[in-house]
Amino acid sequence: MSAQPAAAANEPIDFSGAPLSAPPIITIGLMHVGAVAALFFPSTVGVVSFLVLYVISALGIVVGYHRMLSHRSFRPKKWVEYVLATCGALALQGGPGTWVAVHRLHHAHSDSDADPHNSQAGFSFCHFRWVLNALPETFYERRYTVLARDIDRDPYLRFLSDYELVPTIVMSLLLLAIGGLSALLWGLCLRVVFVYHVTWLVNSAAHMVGNKPFPDATGRNNLLVALLTMGEGWHNNHHAYPRSARCGLQPRQPDFGWWVISGLEKLGLVDKVHDARKYLDNGLRPTT
Ligand SMILES: [Zn+2]
Ligand SMILES: [Zn+2]
Repeated sequence: MSAQPAAAANEPIDFSGAPLSAPPIITIGLMHVGAVAALFFPSTVGVVSFLVLYVISALGIVVGYHRMLSHRSFRPKKWVEYVLATCGALALQGGPGTWVAVHRLHHAHSDSDADPHNSQAGFSFCHFRWVLNALPETFYERRYTVLARDIDRDPYLRFLSDYELVPTIVMSLLLLAIGGLSALLWGLCLRVVFVYHVTWLVNSAAHMVGNKPFPDATGRNNLLVALLTMGEGWHNNHHAYPRSARCGLQPRQPDFGWWVISGLEKLGLVDKVHDARKYLDNGLRPTT
């Protein structure tokens, strides 16, 4: 068996025409059924569980999986990295290894067949249909050898990638103990469905609707998506400067994710924060 040539390892992977996969269909389907059921079991503890866990898991995706792990836009203390990654796993969007590898491919081959959620394939495909498809075998061959080697090298992040459901199982048992079925339906199912759809809006609406101040980059700046996703909707900015921890680069571009990262920096919990705004203020092109 010969080793894979270096050039072949970097060849684009074709994600078009992938077959449907049972596990995501079952998981996402069950969460949606539970979300509808939640409306028939309202309670104060249910609503509080929804709100608290919404903020925790959305921040886990926005600040943890995306800006920290996928782009290394700041350097956290190790325990902060693990807490943020664990919060990301609570969003039921897969472990950090697969999420990061998919996202790095999205940036490398944006809006093409080699982009796992290619927006050129239509709104429904890039919003949710791609999640229901099996990822190609070639993707898994390259996941830890090429695309997300840094995740593979860290024992805890690799554990979280292999056992992504552990945080959700623990949290679900806590919800049942604290508030019974209502807390589980609101704090797990309805909350996960909300985080699914706002995350997916970044892949769909923020690639199709909005302005492009950086015409050479893909993605669109979309205020509504930015408000729903803690700043991820400034997506044309992000594709122009993916290494920047700040996505809202203009004064009237609220970016809650950036405010959290800035707060963590002031507390001394993260450093080496990349901020494209500093370069733009000096008329320089930020490093990407
Ligand atoms: Zn994008
Ligand atoms: Zn990104």
